[in-house]
Amino acid sequence: MADILIIGGGPAGLAAGVYAVRAGAKPVVFEEQLPGGRVNYTDIVENYPGFEPTSGMELALKLAQHAQRFGVEIRQEKVERLTIEDGVAVQTGKGSYEAPCAIIATGTRARTLGVDGEKELLGRGISLCAVCDGPLFKGKEVVVVGGGDSALTEALFLTRFVNRVHLVHRRDEFRGAATLVQRVRDNDKITLHLSRVVKRFESEGGKLKRVVLASKKGEPDETLEVEGAFLYVGNTPNTEFLEVELERDKGGYIVTDERMRTSVGRLFAAGDVRAKVLRQIATAVADGAVAAVSAVEEWLH
Ligand code: NAP
Repeated sequence: MADILIIGGGPAGLAAGVYAVRAGAKPVVFEEQLPGGRVNYTDIVENYPGFEPTSGMELALKLAQHAQRFGVEIRQEKVERLTIEDGVAVQTGKGSYEAPCAIIATGTRARTLGVDGEKELLGRGISLCAVCDGPLFKGKEVVVVGGGDSALTEALFLTRFVNRVHLVHRRDEFRGAATLVQRVRDNDKITLHLSRVVKRFESEGGKLKRVVLASKKGEPDETLEVEGAFLYVGNTPNTEFLEVELERDKGGYIVTDERMRTSVGRLFAAGDVRAKVLRQIATAVADGAVAAVSAVEEWLH
């Protein structure tokens, strides 16, 4: 019998598990995919203190192993419903669980653009994961869309394989970190297409063949002949399973107080799914630690 249900096994959920065990609780972490979450799909993590540049997959594995060695139970189950009855009730594809409290640490998933050709070509040239699909484009030309840390990091990663990365961003200024922007600007395999947006994706033989760009400054459309397109245009919080009304911000992220309490008793939130100013592994881990300690103090003592 678990006494804290942790939904999501990324850095926030795994850290919450470790801190819950340390506080004397019995947590169970539900993770539908790989423990470590989206860190698994990050090439290099270079800003997690204490770990000099390390591969995302290696860091994810270490986070999971640490939690398991501490006695955190990780169940590979997708949580389909969460309701509040006497306690918190969770239903997965495999069973039902109940506990006095729960921590929501389900993170985010990548958004898409919603332009013509995109839906049909996802998985046929359009990808949401450079680490997964980048090596398939060895020697080719690809487009990366976005101006945040993800787009910049993955554009740099792709230069290891491809001949040219066309980085398309809708403004002249980047949202991502200054060091990454400089590295992108200095990389002669990356061509910038600024103040441009994707108008449509076009195919030949069922595969991506070209991307048509529109200018935000009234310049003519531009057509890029590419075989791959990687989208890094922001994220959506994973909260569909929640059958409870929680306070959210305008992006749908869950609002918490400093102790990671949501607006509903028994429910805490941690990591990227939470409304916050900085979404990083370091802040996810910190949220998880605070959420676990708060949950134990409030509901298990
Ligand atoms: P993000 O910071 O939200 O950036 C999304 C980018 O996509 C923005 O540049 C945005 O443009 C652009 N965009 C959004 N909608 C668009 C549309 N419809 N058409 C064209 N462009 C669109 O997302 P992210 O880069 O995935 O990062 C998410 C969080 O993870 C951030 O907090 C980030 O710092 C963090 N992260 C950190 C690291 C790291 O530190 N190593 C790596 C990856 C991610 P605008 O700029 O104009 O809004």
